Amino acid sequence: DNSTEPLPIRRLQESLINRIAAGEIIHRPASALKELIENSLDAGGSSIRITVKDGGMKLLQIQDNGCGIRKADLHILAERFTTSKLSTFMDLSHIRTYGFRGEALASISHVAHLSVVTKTKSESCAWKACYSEGLLAAPKPGQTVEPKPTAGNDGTTITIEDLFYNTPIRLSALKSTSEEYSRILDVLTKYAIHNPKVAFVCKKAGSPSPDLSTPSTSEIPNTIRLLYGHTVAKELVSVTASSKNRDKSDEDESMETDELDDDPESWRCEAHITNANYQAKKMVLLLFINHRLVESSRMKRAFEAVYNGILAKGALPFIYLSLEIDPRSVDVNVHPTKREVHFLNEEAIIEKISDAFQKALTVQNHSRTFEYQT
Ligand code: ADP
Ligand code: MG
Repeated sequence: DNSTEPLPIRRLQESLINRIAAGEIIHRPASALKELIENSLDAGGSSIRITVKDGGMKLLQIQDNGCGIRKADLHILAERFTTSKLSTFMDLSHIRTYGFRGEALASISHVAHLSVVTKTKSESCAWKACYSEGLLAAPKPGQTVEPKPTAGNDGTTITIEDLFYNTPIRLSALKSTSEEYSRILDVLTKYAIHNPKVAFVCKKAGSPSPDLSTPSTSEIPNTIRLLYGHTVAKELVSVTASSKNRDKSDEDESMETDELDDDPESWRCEAHITNANYQAKKMVLLLFINHRLVESSRMKRAFEAVYNGILAKGALPFIYLSLEIDPRSVDVNVHPTKREVHFLNEEAIIEKISDAFQKALTVQNHSRTFEYQT
């Protein structure tokens, strides 16, 4: 019996390592889509169109009219840790984009067939490139790996086919195509609400009518009405809160244009929450921190407690909350797929937001906007 003899340590095959790492970032079609939406939003377009086949397992395509990708960058586009969003370590604390780790496209290329058609404004035609395992690949055996000129509009179209074709265990862990599709629509719905100036369209391949469609010139309460319905929208109360002393209330009207102070502790939030007339069985919490869709069980619990005193037992609200905090107080090393977030002064900020909710809800006048002074 040699059970005490250790087995030799072996180096895993490179392609296996990459596939395992990719699986940690891309769990299912909806998580791939989240990465692609964030890239399209980073690229600054006003339109995002998504086409899906078989719940995204067969095909997931996203087309934007953003800045495009330079032809010269196409050869490293799908390599791991290549990004246009971060160049020095100092930048880490000032990051304002969704991405910066350069892992999404690389990961996708390890677990699916990835192709890209892209055109910048200065380019006279679009370029198409295919990727496999982080590198440029030939579309078919024997064909060239070099990007090919093609017709196309300004912007980028990313196509993912046969997700998890080489990781059967991942594939078998997925739910039905309809379940995966509803997760896709869920992610999309939330980003569409948070980005009312971007037109989103999502449809199944071959279907004449979209399953989700928003205009490019809207406001958050309108997109909530469009996507969650009138029953929610008619009971919404707007709440804002911030770290600022808002005594000079006439100067700080606009959340959008105002930069945060250069104080690492400064923060502000905008929320749209349902009043006491609205009662759901499940809480809907759309939480964006620095424009990234995240989860926070602490916040969820705090808000449940606020509504406990307002709604009948078992009834729950709809909450949309966008919180902006100084990038220096979010831990950027938290992995991007770790949706549960933590940040500096979390407890104090949550308490102030809860107070603002409480105040707005007890006034019970849902036709005006409440300002919370701290
Ligand atoms: P990250 O977003 O962390 O930089 P990604 O792998 O998601 O990493 O993307 C790598 C790079 O590819 C980005 O930094 C960006 O330069 C470019 N890119 C990806 N998608 C798009 C897009 N839709 N439009 C323009 N550029 C894009
Ligand atoms: Mg990205």
